[in-house]
Formats: sequence, C-alpha cells, structure tokens
Amino acid sequence: MAVDAELLEILACPLCKQEVKLVPLTPARATAVRDKFREKFRGEEPVVEQGLQCVKCGRVYPIVSDIPVMLVEEAFEEA
Ligand SMILES: [Zn+2]
Repeated sequence: MAVDAELLEILACPLCKQEVKLVPLTPARATAVRDKFREKFRGEEPVVEQGLQCVKCGRVYPIVSDIPVMLVEEAFEEA
C-alpha cells in the first residue's frame, strides 16, 4: 500500500492547486470510504488506509486501493 513519491509530487488539491501530504485515515473514515467504494470495485474489497491532505484548506482526499481520489465531493473536511 504505497503511493508513488513522484505521483505524490504532481498531485494537488483540485480547489486550491496546493500540494497534498499523506495522512492516515481514522478507522471510522476508512470504513466509510470502503463501504462507499465497495460496489465500484465489483466485489473486490477496497483497501483504504491513507488519505492526502491539502496543506491549504485541510481537505483529505481518500486513497482507495492505491488510487488517490482527488475529487472535492469525496473529500473530508478537516478542521
Ligand atoms: Zn485545498
């Protein structure tokens, strides 16, 4: 379960165009994301452990089975 360092460098928050950093997801959030994406994975259990947090707005974009989901509607708003 790793996101490529080079990929991480080119990823940015779609709202702020700012860099994102790897953060762990709380178990409750990881479970919520897994439940949401399970049907899209056609029975395969999605792996959800980390997210990418925008350094500016603090939104956390989940990483699902090594795929960063850089969509505002899928992001968590962190304080
Ligand atoms: Zn942002």
